[in-house]
Amino acid sequence: MALKFFNSLSRTLQDFVPLDPAGQNVGMYCCGPTVYDFAHIGNWRTFVFGDLVRRTLEFNGNKVQHVMNITDVDDKIIRRVRETNTSLREFTILYEAAFFEDLKTLNCLLPHTTPRATEHIPDIIALIAKLIERGLAYKAPDGSVYFSIENYRKSGRQYGQLVKLNFDEMRVGERVRSDEYEKESVADFALWKTRIPEDGNVFWSSPWGEGRPGWHIECSAMSMKLLGTSFDLHLGGEDLMFPHHEDEIAQSEGACVQADGNRFVKYWLHGAHLLVESRKMSKSLGNFFTLRELLAKGFTGREIRYLLLTAHYRETFNFTLDGLQGARVALLRIDECLNKLRGLAGGAASQTDPEWISRFSLALEDDLNISGAWAAVFDWVRQTNRKLAENSLDASSASVALATWNKMDSVLGVGSPAEQEVPIEILNLVEARQAARKAKDFKQADSLRDELKAKGWVIEDTPKGARAKKI
Ligand SMILES: [Zn+2]
Repeated sequence: MALKFFNSLSRTLQDFVPLDPAGQNVGMYCCGPTVYDFAHIGNWRTFVFGDLVRRTLEFNGNKVQHVMNITDVDDKIIRRVRETNTSLREFTILYEAAFFEDLKTLNCLLPHTTPRATEHIPDIIALIAKLIERGLAYKAPDGSVYFSIENYRKSGRQYGQLVKLNFDEMRVGERVRSDEYEKESVADFALWKTRIPEDGNVFWSSPWGEGRPGWHIECSAMSMKLLGTSFDLHLGGEDLMFPHHEDEIAQSEGACVQADGNRFVKYWLHGAHLLVESRKMSKSLGNFFTLRELLAKGFTGREIRYLLLTAHYRETFNFTLDGLQGARVALLRIDECLNKLRGLAGGAASQTDPEWISRFSLALEDDLNISGAWAAVFDWVRQTNRKLAENSLDASSASVALATWNKMDSVLGVGSPAEQEVPIEILNLVEARQAARKAKDFKQADSLRDELKAKGWVIEDTPKGARAKKI
């Protein structure tokens, strides 16, 4: 079976056929964070979904070029810069650093390129100039440059490909300066916003005077600069479909001629919303969580990642604290099985079990059917546990089983607890061994080391002292 994705552009399930037929140069652009605050769990669902898509593509032998932008200038950021009385860079760098830290906590692969909007102002200006040259953008009396939906439609193109729009409601000449607006208020949108007093020191020079870019143009400029005028995949949360992604299509296809009759983006993938404790997340309901708040409650990045990965990306998912407890139990089951295998295995195996890999892979190929993939994982755990209980696994089959798990985990990314997640029981054993060594009781120290090994841990002596490491 071939890898299939639900393409929001065609609203159908399609075989994934990359622009490079060998799949060795798959371009994937994910809309990144707006660095004005800590990302919340709803944002993280989208980023973990992006990570799943990339890992699945790589699992299937593709070579991916993963780009994620950092929106470090927009309406919300400027408001916060003003409120906190800092400079743009001083303000955004804090949340950008936090974002990358959180990304690592959730074991998401680092995108290959993470361009900042503020470092691509010349590319943005060049793209706007092209749109003006083609008669698709104009400078309005307020000094800002807007995209002309009317002219775009007159040029024979369709505005409103990802969402249905009612143009009868649209009033000609209406413009929207704000980056975020509703489907009902479709209007010419801002590409370059002329400087206003509220912008403070946040502005750049342009052929249209001092100002700053709109949000939508930034993604068109950076994605095409880094991946070409036509690339394979564009991902984001479903809330970005309109106006953000719709505007990206209009800007990119309006300004550039895509080669070979290709589109700006071949496959648009959108992740669904997240509810928390059955309700829309909101600060007033007390169900609004940043990743950091969940970590402070004692949950780990691994448990949160697991829970976010249990639902299909196109389904609204109800994230609950009970669900996180369930994630802990599920991961424990996997860990126990892996620890036993590690105790038994004789070296690393290059071979995996084709039957399990195929079952796991078939589920993912079906538009990332993650429940099917987890069902394969837990059936594998059950069967492996049975064999372990029967003592019917020798060292080499245990190694094959571990290699099989590692292959599946190259997609799931929940395999090994991070270093800081050493269980307390293991930490106690490490401490006891250190004490035994200090007391020169080497017999006891060796027996504790063996006990640790049986549980799947080794002790590494580092300049900072002894620490436990998963085998
Ligand atoms: Zn974007």
